[in-house]
Amino acid sequence: MQSLQSTSASSVWSYFSNICAIPHPSKHEQQLADWIINWAKENNISCIQDNIGNLILKKDAAPGYENKTAVILQAHLDMVPQKNNDTEHDFLTDPITTIIDGEWLHADNTTLGADNGIGMAACLAVLADNELKHGPLEVLLTTDEETGMTGAFGLQADSLQGEILINTDSEQEGELYVGCAGGINVNVSLPYEKMESTPSDKAYEISLSGLKGGHSGCDINLGRANAIKTLASVLNNFDAVPFHMAVFEGGSLRNAIPREARAVIVCDAQYQNSLEIIINTLQLNLCSEFKNAEPNLQLSVQSCDLPASILTHQSQTNLLNSLLGCANGIFTMDNNFSDVVQTSSNMGVLTQNNSEQSSFDIQVLIRSQVEQEKQIEAEKIAQHFAEHGAAVRKDGNYPGWTPNKSSAVYKVMEAQYTELFDQKPKTMVIHAGLECGLFSDKYPHWDMISFGPTIKFPHSPDEKVHIASVDKFWQLLTATLAAID
Ligand SMILES: [Zn+2]
Repeated sequence: MQSLQSTSASSVWSYFSNICAIPHPSKHEQQLADWIINWAKENNISCIQDNIGNLILKKDAAPGYENKTAVILQAHLDMVPQKNNDTEHDFLTDPITTIIDGEWLHADNTTLGADNGIGMAACLAVLADNELKHGPLEVLLTTDEETGMTGAFGLQADSLQGEILINTDSEQEGELYVGCAGGINVNVSLPYEKMESTPSDKAYEISLSGLKGGHSGCDINLGRANAIKTLASVLNNFDAVPFHMAVFEGGSLRNAIPREARAVIVCDAQYQNSLEIIINTLQLNLCSEFKNAEPNLQLSVQSCDLPASILTHQSQTNLLNSLLGCANGIFTMDNNFSDVVQTSSNMGVLTQNNSEQSSFDIQVLIRSQVEQEKQIEAEKIAQHFAEHGAAVRKDGNYPGWTPNKSSAVYKVMEAQYTELFDQKPKTMVIHAGLECGLFSDKYPHWDMISFGPTIKFPHSPDEKVHIASVDKFWQLLTATLAAID
């Protein structure tokens, strides 16, 4: 990163290079935390680590700025460890190798950790720089953001004194984030009755694949097909073929739109032709319904081994009705921000438990920027499945961050951006979780904002950060700190 030392963000690059040298994948951040604790000691900066692993560093105001509003700068300590299959890299021991490629910096076939290493480096650079103008300052470096936000969840409600929090974990320069969604899980266990299959019957596997999937919050407005819901509607359209279902499963993550689902059905051998015709017709229908959103949608049917047991007719109808009747996707849009989803749900996983206590287990995630709306929709979904005889449990509730129209830090940052770069920044709300949502629970009075440099393909070995955007990020950060009243 030598050649980056001549940019205006040279101190950020230099701390980022220190960070890359010390392994810090999620749940293994202590080595980096120790380095920061030591660095703080050497620089006479107060630093404590709370019992969950978060670091809190403090610095006095610059002379003349003692009476300004106290600010908390925030980043997360951990990075996502991902590498390409053919790459030798041990995230617990090996440093991240960085490569400059034109306008971008990336790693050597691994994640780079610019998410949130650049933000963290900027926090340290602010602490170290005694020329900068700012009021009383705290830096909060949270642990384990990427695998459960346990640092933000465990943050004590009395460990910070600041009133403005600046989060550095957004990934598009020129965008200022002022709100995020919270979430809640609905876990459904729908029991079913089974019976033995008839030996003369034939079994077929029907699978739906080739769907795009995507993030269950950020991509929920793209009109993509939900594999579980779509395959349920396919099975519901088999009028001409009386069948029994033996297997139905789909999706693998609650927070991803399911890309694949499969069912095994059993019917009399005489229906094989009709079945193939129906599948072909339904494939054409689906292709036209999802023409733009799902160009690679594939519905197929294939003979398979006869399963020993099948669902009773009543259980099968109950399953399909409960899946089809469950609201899914977008519920409401945000009135204040165009094209922002306010409340949504994703039926992400359907698994089948074919043991004695046979059941279909369904995982739904509801997201909203508005707490009450989230709770109401989650309860509706829970009620819906309960009416079909399911045992339902809600858990994993976390709060969102409701946009604050009179945010003072937003006004300062917008004005600084406009002055520095001669254009207005975009105001954004993200329909996904940020640590800010959890902070708003513990510190409801905080005035918060989130911004950052441009990072592409975070969480993958293709992760890269736009070098010039780090310069703009640093300029905006320091100008904002100086301008906060
Ligand atoms: Zn991050």
